Amino acid sequence: MVSRVIPVDPFDLTIFGGTGDLAHRKILPALYRRFRAGQMPEGSRIIGAARSDLNDDQYRDEVRAALKEFVAAPKLDDAALAGFLDLIRYVAIDAVGDNGWKELKELVRDDHISAFYFSVAPALFGPLAERLHSHGMADDTTRIVVEKPFGRDLASARALNRTLAEHFHETQIYRIDHYLGKETVQNLMALRFGNVLFEPLWNSQYVDHIQITVAETVGVGGRGGYYDRSGAMRDMVQNHLMQLLCLIAMEPPSQFEPGAVRDEKLKVIRSLDPVKPDDIVRGQYASNGKTASYLEDVEDPQSTTESFVALKAHISNWRWAGTPFYLRTGKRLKARQSEIAVVFKDAPHSIFGAEAGRHRNILTIRLQPNEGMTLGVTIKEPGPGGMRLIDVPLDMTFADALGAENEQVTDAYERLVMDVIRGNQTLFMRGDEVEAAWAWTDPIIERWDADGSKPFPYEPGSSGPEESAMMLHRENRRWREIRE
Ligand code: NAP
Repeated sequence: MVSRVIPVDPFDLTIFGGTGDLAHRKILPALYRRFRAGQMPEGSRIIGAARSDLNDDQYRDEVRAALKEFVAAPKLDDAALAGFLDLIRYVAIDAVGDNGWKELKELVRDDHISAFYFSVAPALFGPLAERLHSHGMADDTTRIVVEKPFGRDLASARALNRTLAEHFHETQIYRIDHYLGKETVQNLMALRFGNVLFEPLWNSQYVDHIQITVAETVGVGGRGGYYDRSGAMRDMVQNHLMQLLCLIAMEPPSQFEPGAVRDEKLKVIRSLDPVKPDDIVRGQYASNGKTASYLEDVEDPQSTTESFVALKAHISNWRWAGTPFYLRTGKRLKARQSEIAVVFKDAPHSIFGAEAGRHRNILTIRLQPNEGMTLGVTIKEPGPGGMRLIDVPLDMTFADALGAENEQVTDAYERLVMDVIRGNQTLFMRGDEVEAAWAWTDPIIERWDADGSKPFPYEPGSSGPEESAMMLHRENRRWREIRE
C-alpha cells in the first residue's frame, strides 16, 4: 500500500524538557519514525532544551541511547539514525530564569515554522509562554504544544488558559491528549461519518448503552507522589475517557476541520448531566501479598485517592436521552485493555422462538491491545437440528487488515507532532473543551472531598471493586469482561 503523506515545510521544533522521560520514550522516537518515513523535510531542526549542561554532541548521544531503547530494532537503521541525529541541537536553558534564552533565540529561525513543545512540569507552562514572548519568539505563526495535565480543576485550568492567552492565540495552542492521536480513535470518526451503515442506528432508539473501558495492569509505580495528588478521575476520566465519549456521542461535524469537530465535542460535554452519587464507584487496589497495595505504593495509609473509577453518564440531548454511557478506568486490573463497546438493543421481536437464543449486536472498538474493531453479528449455528442462533465476530484488526509493517499504523505521538507542524488542530483540545470537562468533573471530586467517604478496596488482577459490577447489575446489565 502506498502511503499518501501531506508534505510539510522545514521547521524548528524545540522540546522543552528534551532530557525528560516523555521526550525519551515518546516524542523523540515519534520524530525519528516520521523522519525515517521520509516525512521530515530537509533543513528541519529538533532542539532539545533543558537545564542540564550538555553540548549538541552530548545530547545526540542521549537521543541515540533513547532511540535504541524505545524504537523497535528493525526500524533503527544506521543511515536513518545518523540522518536524524544531524537534525538535533541542544540548548541549556532555564524556564524560570534568564539562562539560555538568548542562545535559543539565535537558533530558532524567524523564517521557518517554529513549534515549542512544553514537555515539562505544568508549573513551567506559564513561565515558558511568558519567556517565549519576552524574548521575541512568539509571533503569529509560532505554535506551542502543551502536555497534560491541563490544570487540576476548573479554576487552575482557567488560570492556565488565561496565562497562555496573554501570549498566544487559541489557534497557536495545541493541548495534547494522546488518545486523540490513536489510529482507532480517528477510525471511529471514519466509521461513523464515512459509512452509511452505522449512523442511522447511532442513537437511543437502537443503542442500549455504551461502555468505555481503559484498564491498566500496572500500579502507580514510581509516580506515586504525582498520582496521589491526581487520581483516576483527574488523570484519566477528565481527559482521555471524556475525549472518547465526545467522539462516540457527538453530532456529525460539517467538516473534518478543527473548529467544526471541537464545537461538536464541546456540545457533548455541555450536555452531560451531573453524576449522581449512586452512579459512581471509586476504588483503590489492595495487596495480594505479591504486589503492594495502593496505600503502600503512595506511602500514605490515609490516602483516599482513587486508582479506579466507574460511573454512569447521561447525555441530555435528542440523540442520547435514555442511553447510559458507562465509563470505567483503573490500575492493577486484570488486563491492559482499552475499548469502547456500543451495545445495540435487542431485535424488536424474535421470529425464531425462545429456544433459538437471542444475541445483541455489539460493536467493539479496541484501542489497545491490537487496535481494531469487531462487530458481533447473529447468524444461524451451522448444521441440522433447527434454528439456533450464535454470535460471530466480524473482525478487523488493523495490523492484519493493513499489514503489520504498514507505516500508516502510526503511534499517536507521531501523528500529533506532525499535525502541529502542519498546523492542524483537529485532534487537540480547545481551551473551552478542557474547562467544560473540568466543570463536569469538579463537583464529583468536591463531593468525595466533602463527604469523607473512602474508595472501595479491590483485588489486584480483578475487574475492580464488586460495587462497580453491582452498579450495572442494578440495571440488568453487566460490564464486558476485561481480557487481553
Ligand atoms: P521528567 O522526566 O521529570 O522531565 C522533566 C524535564 O523538564 C526534564 O527534561 C528536565 O530537565 C526539564 N526541566 C525541569 N525543570 C526545568 C527548568 N526550570 N527549565 C527547563 N527545563 C526544566 O518529566 P516527564 O515525565 O518527561 O513529563 C514532562 C511533562 O509531560 C509533564 O507535564 C508530565 O505531566 C507530562 N506527561 C508525561 C508523561 C510520561 O509518560 N512521562 C505522560 C503524559 C504526560 P533538566 O532537569 O535537565 O532541566
